[in-house]
Amino acid sequence: MSSVLSGKDLIKIRIDVLGVSFDNITMAEATNKALKLMERRDAAYVVTPNPEIVMLCRDDESLLRAISGASMVLPDGIGIIKGAQILGTPLKEKIPGIEFAETLFGLMADKGMSVFLLGAKPGVAELAAQKLSERFTGLRIVGTNDGYFTDDGHVVEKINAVSPDLLLVCLGAPKQELWMQKNAPRLRVGLMAGLGGSMDVFAGVAERAPEAWRRLNLEWLYRLKEDPSRAKRMTNLPKFGFAVIGRKLSGNKS
Ligand code: UDP
Repeated sequence: MSSVLSGKDLIKIRIDVLGVSFDNITMAEATNKALKLMERRDAAYVVTPNPEIVMLCRDDESLLRAISGASMVLPDGIGIIKGAQILGTPLKEKIPGIEFAETLFGLMADKGMSVFLLGAKPGVAELAAQKLSERFTGLRIVGTNDGYFTDDGHVVEKINAVSPDLLLVCLGAPKQELWMQKNAPRLRVGLMAGLGGSMDVFAGVAERAPEAWRRLNLEWLYRLKEDPSRAKRMTNLPKFGFAVIGRKLSGNKS
């Protein structure tokens, strides 16, 4: 866990949750950092792991490497926040990937910055482009591609031809994290963000949980209700809870 001294307070800038190191920042800090990373234009990437992904990292070293290579690791969901709290190293706040993107789009729209939308089923990214450009006047959607391609090279060329400030990579986890890490060296983009099912929501082909469910931190349960096929993936949720408690009881030793 890394930290800096600020006045009398010891501020932890990265917080470890079962081997994954999260940025301890607010939404405003995260979006500001994203804008700065875009200016550098070195194809850095942002990931938003939930408990499921943290558990996958424990069995998959290549995924853990991809996540560790990210310039920002944001806690997407209440599970990570609760886990960090139980471990005695609380994170400042939950940063749902979709809200991070929406806040960032607002800031980018004011500056006339550009986005490329990659991912989801054919036609969905185009629909998302239409809706996002109506919603965020000034935001330039400079390209789209579905997420079911076989030739990375062709897609990289298409992205590089327009060289966007931001590349949204919505291929689902862990595919998107591995894809961003692998292709970063040859991509001419400001910043990438791996945002799972967000494209479907931006396009209006999927819905976020209603506000009441979100307020109760039950977005995960709503998604399960809407798509029971997620049940298998979600067995990692209780496993995450037990692993956090086990870590706590062992005095936070790995
Ligand atoms: N997807 C894709 N290419 C693939 C597999 C998945 O573009 O090879 C898309 C899929 O169509 C969906 C998104 O990735 O839009 C994954 O959504 P899911 O809700 O499973 O992701 P999560 O947010 O849970 O990571």
